[in-house]
Amino acid sequence: MMLSIIIPVFNEAEAILPFLSEISKTVKSLPIQYELIFVNDGSTDSTLQTLLQEQEKDHSIRIIDLSRNFGKEAALTAGLTAAKGDAIVPIDVDLQDPPEIIIEMLGKWKEGYEVVLGRRINRNSDSWAKRSTANWFYRLHNRIAQPRLPEDVGDFRLMDRKVVIALNRLFESHRFMKGLFAWVGFRTTIVDYVRAPRFNGTSKFNGWKLWNFAIEGITSFSTSPLRIWTYVGLIVSFAAFAFGAFISLRTAIYGVDVPGYASIVVAVTFIGGLQLTGIGVLGEYLGRAYIETKRRPIFIVREIFEMEIGTSQNDNSLLPPQASRTVRSQPGN
Ligand code: UDP
Ligand code: MG
Repeated sequence: MMLSIIIPVFNEAEAILPFLSEISKTVKSLPIQYELIFVNDGSTDSTLQTLLQEQEKDHSIRIIDLSRNFGKEAALTAGLTAAKGDAIVPIDVDLQDPPEIIIEMLGKWKEGYEVVLGRRINRNSDSWAKRSTANWFYRLHNRIAQPRLPEDVGDFRLMDRKVVIALNRLFESHRFMKGLFAWVGFRTTIVDYVRAPRFNGTSKFNGWKLWNFAIEGITSFSTSPLRIWTYVGLIVSFAAFAFGAFISLRTAIYGVDVPGYASIVVAVTFIGGLQLTGIGVLGEYLGRAYIETKRRPIFIVREIFEMEIGTSQNDNSLLPPQASRTVRSQPGN
């Protein structure tokens, strides 16, 4: 039995040591083998150097160094393709997801659940604005998109190997992981936890990024925003027709009525605005379809660093086997 923990990191040099000391407490107490897969998502600080230093001491660390910042979703995907475990847990490095919950998750997994979601029962560590916008997003998403996203659930979860194999078969390059996780299905249960504030460092997501993230979620799993324009168009046309009939009738009865500047301008600008909005929505989808048709890989790996126990030299030596670092350029086993 093996547990893979996937940690995407982007400029987190100062968060790595506290994270390692916390996670070690948890995983070392478990009667299970484990690997810690760090995906360095194009950090520009000393994240990679810190990881390499720590790897010398802790051979369960594997490092996937991406060629640039591809975003958390791509970094997670890279980790998932490399994971060898029977159970796989993505976790944030900032200790917002408490590592000890993994024990509870493993318990549920042993009971036969293939997905164990970590649900935040208390989001007080997030700002009011973030909580309420997240809330609106879930409501809107679940109304118009399939499948439903479980609320207050992030990437922190345990997945059986089967689930990860299924995820690795999804080749789309626009990856809204929360949605993809839900899409693959499987027997699912929930454990609750309190989301802590960030231990140190700063959040890598700002309002604009989150807005785009929300658009990503909706466009990836719903075509309602595209189709709604048919109905908006029909309603507006119908209203225009009714108004036209009314004007014709009035002109026939009362004669020509020249003033009407305001109503014309209002109608023209209103319908112009509707059309531009409709074209904008088309653009969102067309842009995504365009990127998908290129079939670019989701991430590019610069190097993979792993520690392996050397066996070639001194097979009959009494010295403990020496671990040495292997550097590869491709993921996969
Ligand atoms: N992260 C990443 N690539 C990015 C942005 C974030 O790998 O482009 C990682 C980050 O290092 C952290 C996790 O994703 O381990 C969550 O990021 P953060 O804590 O900034 O998000 P928040 O908790 O504020 O939503
Ligand atoms: Mg965080």
